[in-house]
Amino acid sequence: MKAGKLYYHFVENMNDALALNLSFAGNAKYIAGGQSLVPMMNLRLVLNEELIDISQVPDLLKSYSIDDEFFIGAGITHSQIEDGKIEDHTQGYLQYVAQGIAYRAIRNKGTIGGSLVNADPSADWPTAMLALGAKAIIMNQHHERQVPLANFQNGLMQTCLEESDILRGVLIPKLSSNARWSYLKFCHKVGEFAHSIAAIVIDPSLGISNIVLGAAGDKPIFLPNLSAKFSKAFIGNEGFNNELKELLEEDLIQHTTHDKLSYEFNLHQSMIKRAVMGVLQ
Ligand SMILES: Cc1cc2nc3c(=O)[nH]c(=O)nc-3n(C[C@H](O)[C@H](O)[C@H](O)COP(=O)(O)OP(=O)(O)OC[C@H]3O[C@@H](n4cnc5c(N)ncnc54)[C@H](O)[C@@H]3O)c2cc1C
Repeated sequence: MKAGKLYYHFVENMNDALALNLSFAGNAKYIAGGQSLVPMMNLRLVLNEELIDISQVPDLLKSYSIDDEFFIGAGITHSQIEDGKIEDHTQGYLQYVAQGIAYRAIRNKGTIGGSLVNADPSADWPTAMLALGAKAIIMNQHHERQVPLANFQNGLMQTCLEESDILRGVLIPKLSSNARWSYLKFCHKVGEFAHSIAAIVIDPSLGISNIVLGAAGDKPIFLPNLSAKFSKAFIGNEGFNNELKELLEEDLIQHTTHDKLSYEFNLHQSMIKRAVMGVLQ
């Protein structure tokens, strides 16, 4: 299938993008890498007629440090992150996540912002960024606002963005030298979307202890009980003990809809357990 009738608009700055979008009163879509949007347009799952190309807007292509955080523009591609072309203060976490997304051709075009706004629960960046404790920087015509990733995605392919809002980028804490992370993705074939993702970022100096499960519901799932306990276990280096096992089960029962005896429950349980062991190694 092919997309319906379209009008393509190329913009060179944020103001033009925002103004143009507003002028189309809900019938416009931004396009960045087009790697999710174009397939959806071809399947006629997206029917907007006005396409606003923001891929070359300079504000979206920046990455820089601000004190103890660093910023990645929404238009930065997966392969730029994979190739170490941007500032990265996560001890290799971002690079590792990026190289596991789809195939190189998709990584060359697909952007971190497009992935977050697309809000596919099986995609990598939504889960990976939630585990990092990142914040989304969102712009409308009048002001800019910061939204913690925990409040950014509302559900399946739904975010807190209003119709013409632009995600300018993400603000990420600079991890300290004693931070540890683990990122595991289970898929049947390399380059596929995941059936389960386990993301862990622990940084005792910054008070970060985040364990997040992806591809297990309509949005990434933060596991609160295990996350809280794990920071202590990490310091004590006790391994995956019975207490952690029970907390994980409790979190999965409370925050997923899977039956305890189901394949999915056991898959997610194994993934988180393996990720925990990875951090403790
Ligand atoms: C075969 C295939 C395999 C894939 N495998 C994976 C995978 O394993 N893991 C994974 O995570 N992803 C995967 N993807 C998705 C890929 O990572 C996309 O690049 C990404 O989801 C979307 O980024 P994009 O820049 O192409 O966004 P686009 O397709 O251009 O846009 C996606 C959505 O975001 C909106 N948007 C884009 N940028 C902004 C912005 N700055 N502000 C506001 N709205 C914006 C658009 O309007 C649109 O609604 C796969 C895609 C394909 C085709």
